Amino acid sequence: MRPGFTVHARAGAARAGRLVTAHGVVETPAFMPVGTYGTVKAMTPEELESLGAQIILGNTFHLMLRPGAKIIAAHGGLHRFMHWTHPILTDSGGFQVFSLKSLRRISEEGVWFRSPVDGREVRLTPEDSMEVQLALRSDIAMALDDCTAYPATEAEARASMERSMRWAVRSHAHYYRPAAQEPAGGLFGIVQGGMHMPLRLASLDALLRLEWPGLAVGGLAVGESEQERLGVLESLVPQMPAGLPRYLMGVGRPEDIVAAVLCGIDLFDCVMPTRHARNGHLFTASGVINIRNSAFAADLSPVDASCDCYTCRNFTRAYLRHLDRCNEILGSRLNTIHNLHFYIALMRALRAAIAAGTLGEWARQFLAARRDRGAVA
Ligand SMILES: [Zn+2]
Repeated sequence: MRPGFTVHARAGAARAGRLVTAHGVVETPAFMPVGTYGTVKAMTPEELESLGAQIILGNTFHLMLRPGAKIIAAHGGLHRFMHWTHPILTDSGGFQVFSLKSLRRISEEGVWFRSPVDGREVRLTPEDSMEVQLALRSDIAMALDDCTAYPATEAEARASMERSMRWAVRSHAHYYRPAAQEPAGGLFGIVQGGMHMPLRLASLDALLRLEWPGLAVGGLAVGESEQERLGVLESLVPQMPAGLPRYLMGVGRPEDIVAAVLCGIDLFDCVMPTRHARNGHLFTASGVINIRNSAFAADLSPVDASCDCYTCRNFTRAYLRHLDRCNEILGSRLNTIHNLHFYIALMRALRAAIAAGTLGEWARQFLAARRDRGAVA
């Protein structure tokens, strides 16, 4: 079924909404933990559920290389393969291919790359990406796009954006091809155009010639400054259809998410909470702490006294630092539980503030608390 979206509360440009998919409802603004290889690292699906995760992201690039779409399709799709019964969004694989740089060549047809797993040459066209995502039976699939490098000249950004738009048309045509079975989900288009506003608006115009159940903003979180990113969002988002969910790909730090929600973004994904957890970087209301710091060796307090996650209710900073130093696997698990709880609680607080009409004041206090500490990662 195609995802449906309704907005039930607004605060300025920010909205609280409900995204309905075949695998359930996502209350927005929402954060999607990243499950690259069919697992959100170190978490069981039941743990994700108890943390309040509503939707997760799967990486098409990684899953097509290992174990391959066929094995996942033989399970009936990614939900059954990984035992996750709630919504899944899959990316197109484009971003990872473009991150390979030296390992790829691009043509109008698609992109060829050497598999980082076994060195064989692999092709990824818009049609290939749709085939894999259809086999994964994701609730939300993403069009294949050409990820514009940063920085890019106007001419480079234009050529890249125009290719993305041609690929969006091909992605759409293949995903919804008339002879095929109705897809399990819906396909989102991706606005590109780099930091160049006329190109961003041209990209949006091109996408809106087709019907999408949602739109994403791509090509951000690629090295641009916070001012550049906010500049794009503040100009672009008001032009996006109010009735469609808006997904900001790959962003980001808690303060970046708050700023983007204030601009009217509804969906987020980022590896930061899970990756940081495994590196001992833990999010708190006043900034990020590094649990490896010797200052925590005898610290009997929880990671964050204001946090009610399983980790903070039961373990001290000294214990978490000890687990990390001894390379104990439980350390990664407890850190991940805390960091995901932090992000999911942040989204819950944002939704509540939008509904209560207190978002402006809430955001001001949140951002001030993190700035005072000066430890923003
Ligand atoms: Zn906690």
